[in-house]
Amino acid sequence: LTSKLPKVGTTIFTVMSALAAEKGAVNLGQGFPDFDCDPQLVNAVTSAMQRGLNQYPPMAGVPVLREAVAAKLAALYGRSYDAGSEITITAGATQAIITIILAVVHPGDEVIVLEPCYDSYVPNIELAGGTVVRVPLTPGTFRPDFDKISAAISPKTRAIIVNSPHNPSATVWSQADMRRLQDILAPTDILLISDEVYEHMVFDADQGQLHQSAARFAGLAARAFIVSSFGKTYHVTGWKVGYVAAPAALTAEFRKVHQFNVFTVNTPVQHGLAAYMADDRPYLDLPALYQRKRDLFRTGLQNTRFRLLPSEGSYFQCVDISAVSDLGEADFCQWLTTEIGVAAIPLSAFYGDGFDQRVVRFCFAKKDQTLHLALERLAKL
Ligand code: PMP
Ligand code: GLN
Repeated sequence: LTSKLPKVGTTIFTVMSALAAEKGAVNLGQGFPDFDCDPQLVNAVTSAMQRGLNQYPPMAGVPVLREAVAAKLAALYGRSYDAGSEITITAGATQAIITIILAVVHPGDEVIVLEPCYDSYVPNIELAGGTVVRVPLTPGTFRPDFDKISAAISPKTRAIIVNSPHNPSATVWSQADMRRLQDILAPTDILLISDEVYEHMVFDADQGQLHQSAARFAGLAARAFIVSSFGKTYHVTGWKVGYVAAPAALTAEFRKVHQFNVFTVNTPVQHGLAAYMADDRPYLDLPALYQRKRDLFRTGLQNTRFRLLPSEGSYFQCVDISAVSDLGEADFCQWLTTEIGVAAIPLSAFYGDGFDQRVVRFCFAKKDQTLHLALERLAKL
């Protein structure tokens, strides 16, 4: 059999979580909370099951959840999406992204990705027969380099994937960044795939930081598939439910593929989420919850020789390991997990060529006691 993805192995997240479990390490590698979700959310889903909401929902998702998503997008970003024709509930952001790519990328089309990037984007583009055009974020700061982005555009460019807040670097695009992107795309028909799974995790609001959803910018929203994940927002990564918001013509193409690669998504979970979304506090309170954990973790890391990079959003903290070890990132993560008992993810896993810049990523979506235990171990370094 000739592999369709010859360069792809098992994802780094699976590899590091397995190693962490084997070695009894504190797992700050794979991005998921080690605390449970709000019991009210579980009750809402259980209640839906008990009310017999257990058969196929409509292909695009249950209307009440699509309406709740539309209401949230309108309230937070000031754009109205039609729940019937512009919002689709997906099996997590992962299925949303591959479905978008399969729906819009024709063989030979180019798709711009900004490296480092989430590990599913490149294989998704390859499966669609597209050509990956890699544009590096500025080394060191991970800021977008708009001259490089402009230079990467060709008549074959079908789409660009943007992810803010960013996994793995924890940077957040500013309003000026989004406007610049909007200006660059204005004379083109390039589509925007805006991965906003960490939309509710932007820190330092007192310093003016805000999630700059593509929905806020008319020129971007008109060409954008906006992707989010309830798993991140409500601490239920294992439920695998997300959504895509896009103009009706784009949504129609999306649904042509969606109906054949998943058809539709878990009914009672959708009803539970819809009921739970009636209260906006859980996502409005999220930045404060994670900012406190970020600050706890960063304060503890001051006792180590890691050089801390900024963490503006998401639930990740990147550190430069140069002063701690001579090992490359990947070897360092193996060593840290095995010998020190803390798992992390090497940034090289988010680059096509495994580019090593001595930076690793920790996830701080953990109980305080987990973070304290990890910090105790890291203090030895
Ligand atoms: N995009 C990014 C940037 C992510 O970090 C993740 C989750 N790790 C996903 C997409 C996938 O989200 P989901 O679990 O909802 O499929
Ligand atoms: N998004 C999570 C991360 O970046 C993990 C998702 C996965 O395991 N595929 O750690």
